Amino acid sequence: MQSKHILLDDTLEEMQAYLKGIGQPAFRAKQVYQWLHKGMGFEDMHNLPKTLKEKLSEECIDLPMTLHAEFPSQKDDTVKFLFACQDGNLVEGVLMHYHYGYSLCISTQIGCKMGCSFCASTIDGCVRNLSAGEMLAEVLLANRYLGDRGKIGHVVLMGSGEPLDNYESTVRFLRLINSVDGLNMSLRNVSLSTCGLVPQIRALADEKMSVTLSISLHAPNDDIRREIMPIAYTYPIDELMSAVREYVAQTGRRVIFEYALIDGLNSTTAHARELAKLIRGLQCHVNLIPLNYVDESSLIPAKPAAVKDFLEALESLHISATIRREMGTDIAGACGQLRRRHLQTGVEIDTM
Ligand code: SAH
Repeated sequence: MQSKHILLDDTLEEMQAYLKGIGQPAFRAKQVYQWLHKGMGFEDMHNLPKTLKEKLSEECIDLPMTLHAEFPSQKDDTVKFLFACQDGNLVEGVLMHYHYGYSLCISTQIGCKMGCSFCASTIDGCVRNLSAGEMLAEVLLANRYLGDRGKIGHVVLMGSGEPLDNYESTVRFLRLINSVDGLNMSLRNVSLSTCGLVPQIRALADEKMSVTLSISLHAPNDDIRREIMPIAYTYPIDELMSAVREYVAQTGRRVIFEYALIDGLNSTTAHARELAKLIRGLQCHVNLIPLNYVDESSLIPAKPAAVKDFLEALESLHISATIRREMGTDIAGACGQLRRRHLQTGVEIDTM
């Protein structure tokens, strides 16, 4: 396993301490930090002495990921990435082009242990957490891929993994991406999606980081939620809602509810009314997602007419809601599908 120091995991202060320990003057840390956060390797750090570059290469890793493969959609500007970790594990990311710029969906764990029945990421369980530097490397590699076309302006923690099950590294990643000597990304441009780990939502509220919180709700009550999301046994909806209210109160940020519409389960207008009642009065928005087919799951997406009726039912009750635009469905758009297909076949997947 990994023995070298992943320098990209470090805060500037930690990097200062490390470089001081190997006899370097204080200003070097900032130089190294700035280079690394531009996605550069040690050999490209032109203003460092050769001996230092050699020492860093011996003891440390610059970029802990490589871009293993890319799958551009034939239908839109979406590109799906497979990133390779140093230990050979693969994770996925999705690059999306919106009118406001480029957004990258990143993974926070290799696999996931949450067990949601509609999600491909969780089928083989969780291999390990990603470190903060690995998450950051996903963004840096996407920036490198974009080159002159632009930079990633928004990040969503909505790829494989449950970010709040990897709390420490996720919060560290948020601080790194927000740092002035790094990408300096406003945390308002970062969305964190969770299946609803209540203590960690409360802890995140206390960090007062103004990250946009997305809750994967997918049901208006515990009975339905428990059919598809095991986490609902641990944290019932009323506890989840009270943590969400606290998050909104502490950060002033509007919360997003993700709701995948599944045929015969959660997608009638009666469910829409129940949902409206549940979230009434909360500063929130509902993102309706047409369920993506996952081969291993028997769940069926709701019909387009049902999706439209559901939306109209929410709107008539003055709940802010939209249907999420489907992007990159031809390139295994649903979370975890691409990595699984790749693991199963071991060959480059067909993008048609
Ligand atoms: N673990 C986090 C983030 C990863 S999943 C979470 O649960 O929020 C990202 C989003 O994709 C979640 O809202 C998840 O519920 C949704 N999702 C997963 N599989 C899906 C599928 N087959 N169709 C539609 N949405 C799916």
